[in-house]
Amino acid sequence: MKYEVKFSCGHTATVELFGPTNEREKKIAWYKESGECPECYAKNVEARKADGCESRIMHYGDYKTNWFWCATARDSYNAKDKTIAVYVPKAYNGLEDMISVMARNDREKGKRDAYTANAYAIKDALESGKINQEQVKTLVAIAKKIFEFYK
Ligand SMILES: [Zn+2]
Repeated sequence: MKYEVKFSCGHTATVELFGPTNEREKKIAWYKESGECPECYAKNVEARKADGCESRIMHYGDYKTNWFWCATARDSYNAKDKTIAVYVPKAYNGLEDMISVMARNDREKGKRDAYTANAYAIKDALESGKINQEQVKTLVAIAKKIFEFYK
């Protein structure tokens, strides 16, 4: 059933609710008390993704190859020239920053586990001084991309 609901942000939006009446009433009360309307919710998600980053327009292929661990701006894909707006960390302070952005996007998107795990494995290896040849290669490849991008 559809309801006109007033959210805690002050906006009104139509939501569709299912289930028993008391559950629906509970949900509506929650929306009023602490829920955000879909528009505000989407805005806040974007703000979180953009935090500490700057939006850069790049070719989709570049994003997929080099910046896939970054979040992308909502509805920013341009099918005509195959570009997308990517939230790239503002100032690169190295692996630490990259890992924190990866971890954040990992939680947000629920993917990229392997890449994040790899980054953490490299970090651990660096800290313990037991970095292997394969990890050095990965690290150098990542660093090269980063330096190319920020020069
Ligand atoms: Zn709102």
